Parts: sequence; C-alpha cells; structure tokens
Amino acid sequence: MKLRYVVIAGAGTALAVVLGFQASWETTPPPASLATASVWQPSLLQKPATSFQPLATFANADNDTAPKRPELPTRPVFNAALLETKPPTQVWSGTLSAGETLDALISTAGLSASDRAEVALALGAEYDLRKLKPGYDVEVELSLSGSLKRVMLSVEAGVQIEAVFADEIATRKIIPAPDLVLNSADTTVKSSIFATLASAGVPARFAVDLSEMLGGTVDFRRDLKGGERLQLMWREATLDGQRLGQPRLSFAALTIEDTLYEIVWPVDDSGNATIFVDGGLLRVFAQPVQGARLSSVYGNRRHPVFGDVRMHTGVDFAAPRGTPVYATAPGRISYIGRRSGYGRVVEIAHGSDTQTRYAHLSAVPKGLAIGDRVAAGDKIGRVGATGTATGPNLHYEVRVNGHPTDPMSNDRLAKAASKADTNTGVLKRLQASRAKFSVLQDQNVTASTQERL
Ligand SMILES: [Zn+2]
Repeated sequence: MKLRYVVIAGAGTALAVVLGFQASWETTPPPASLATASVWQPSLLQKPATSFQPLATFANADNDTAPKRPELPTRPVFNAALLETKPPTQVWSGTLSAGETLDALISTAGLSASDRAEVALALGAEYDLRKLKPGYDVEVELSLSGSLKRVMLSVEAGVQIEAVFADEIATRKIIPAPDLVLNSADTTVKSSIFATLASAGVPARFAVDLSEMLGGTVDFRRDLKGGERLQLMWREATLDGQRLGQPRLSFAALTIEDTLYEIVWPVDDSGNATIFVDGGLLRVFAQPVQGARLSSVYGNRRHPVFGDVRMHTGVDFAAPRGTPVYATAPGRISYIGRRSGYGRVVEIAHGSDTQTRYAHLSAVPKGLAIGDRVAAGDKIGRVGATGTATGPNLHYEVRVNGHPTDPMSNDRLAKAASKADTNTGVLKRLQASRAKFSVLQDQNVTASTQERL
C-alpha cells in the first residue's frame, strides 16, 4: 500500500509539505488516530484543477444509449477569499492495493466503522464500488477534531467521486474537462492515401473518411498518380496527455492536377460534411450515422456470417447499438418493417426511381409512418443488429429502379441532399476552415524552425 500524508499549512501561506511515506501497511502502520498524529497541521480544501460536472448532464433524452460528451465546463477560478472562510481540516490520502477493500484502506485514516459505512454508502450512490481497482486513490478530509468532512475517490479516466459530509451527505461525480487539440498536416501523396497518412504521422483511419467523402467524385486508384498535395486538419480530445476517443477530421484539401477538392466536416455531431471543388459547393454529404466507422463497402466481399463471397449491396457503418440513424436525403417513408436478413428496416423513396434502405435497426421512432415526409438529417431509427449481422451496424443501401447501387457514387441523392442544405453558411465555413488551417501550419513551421535552431 502507498500512503501519503499531505500537510498543507494554514490560510494564505500556500505552503505544501509532502511527507512521502512510501511504506507498506504491513510494515509501517499509520497512526492510530489521525487527530493525535503530531505531524499533522490544519490544511485547507483546495482542488482548483478539476471542474465539476453534474451527472445530470449525461441524461440525454434524445440519445439514451450513445451519450454525448457533455459541454466542456470552464475550470473554476481559484478563489483565495473562499479559503479564508473555511475552517481548517486535515487531509489523508491512500491508494488501493491489490486485494484491498475500500473499507480496509480508509480504516487506516482512522475512520470509525459507522463513518466507513457512510462513506461506502455515499460513494456507492455515484459509483459501483465493485468496480474498484488497485491504484485508485482515496482522499479523506477530517475536521481537526476528527469528524468526517469529505471523501474523494479517484477512479479511471480522471473521474472522481466526491462525498461531502455535512448536515446532509452529498455525492457527486466529477468529470475532468478534456483538452481539445487541433492538428494539421501538409503532405504529398505517395503510393496510396493510407501509406501517405501513415508516413506523415496522421491517423491512417482518415483514409476511410476521405474515400467515403470523395469516393463518388474521385477514383483514387485511377486519379492519384503520386505527388498530389494533401492537407488535413483534425481534432483530438486529450486528458492528461492521454487521447480520448478517436481523432476527427475537420478539414481536408486534395489537389489533383489543377483541381482542388476540399471537405469541411461539421464541428459537432449535427450537420453534414460538405465537399467543394475549386471553391464552389459540389455536394453536401449527409451521413446516415454520424462519426461512425465505415466497416464494409459496396461490392463483392466474403460474407462475415456465411463465409462465402457475396455481393454486398450497400455500405456498413459500425456504431454502438442505439446510435441515431438519419435520412441522407429528403423523401417519403415508403416502408417500415422487417425484411429477412436485413432485420428491421426503414426505406425512403426519393422521387419515383431512387430509394434508400436503412437496415439492422434496433428501433424506429414512435409515430414514424409510411407516407411521412422526411428531410435530410431527420432521425429515422437507431443502429442495431437485427437480421443477419455480426454486430451492431447500419447497412445503408441505395436502390435505383429496385437495384442496389454504390451509395458512394450516387449523384442523384447527393444533389437532393445539396438542395436541402442552404448555400449561405457553407462557403463561410470553408473560408473559416482554410484560415484556421493556415494559422496552424504557420505555427507548425514556427515550431519546427525553432526545433532546428
Ligand atoms: Zn451490409
């Protein structure tokens, strides 16, 4: 066990003394009573580095199974005046070791059995204590007379559970605010987009995003000869240097001979990616699932369930069960129900000859009915694994005159979606993305120049 006694001197002096006891519990028992431990001095509650995020923020009525990260809270400003008014306390901290219970650990802080039971009850209100792991930190704050004031449990991913013991016991979960970092790269296409990204230190998964966006416009195999300029900007969320989730593209520019293709991705999960050619709007790419991984493309493939080579009649987006599915173009609901291997499906008719099919759905919104008009981006279901599916995914299919076609090259749908989006905002977003990219690249150049010096 790792024990640390942190002694923080009284108000205003901001002096911290860490007596780094790294002794094990077995060989060096801690003081029987913290109140009598002579090295202890009054300390003050001070946690300015984290911000408070009530759990309620996660309750997203519209999206129960795929919660969005809550809005980033601003870090509270350290308020010296508040400190002056707080009575002095003593703080004990320890780290769970393998096989150790929370009760055993906090008993070393000198807590009575009834206090320990209250701590377990309070923390248990916000955290399943059966999930406790070795290495988790516990901090116990006591008044100078030894009465329990506050317990802070630090668990995975920087999450903390705080229980405050006053007239009433209050527990809350504290989610740390991640840092959002914007990155950029200016590179030259080599043998393939994938190889280009990998060698430039850019997440190679972006190759899929690029082919998804430009697949219907550019034939990567035929049009890319090498030497084309590829510029990318993407964002990553990090916490304590650790990456959270997947990086997301926000802007891409690909120059093929004299033609400039640019893509602007939406900042959040709402809105559509937009493709521009030579600065003009080419099309709006309405994705049926936002932020999902394209797990299988259209064409012949080895069937994941049956094992033989079969024609794959659509594209698959792997996403967690319950992720919302959106209409990719305006139209009318033409079918809701089951279709053998497809499971639960919704179909939309776009004009007289084109249809989109959304398969393996786990749910369809209540009230959605055949004949209903939908716009691009309207929610028409949730990702599931009904029918023949190895896991939750959306099978998205575009049918023209009853025959499946490659959804990535269906211009008719793209045009319908483009019309649905107003032209006004998108050019501004392109300008803003270009400007942001230039600023980032200038910073990169400055940084690398300084490294060389
Ligand atoms: Zn499929």
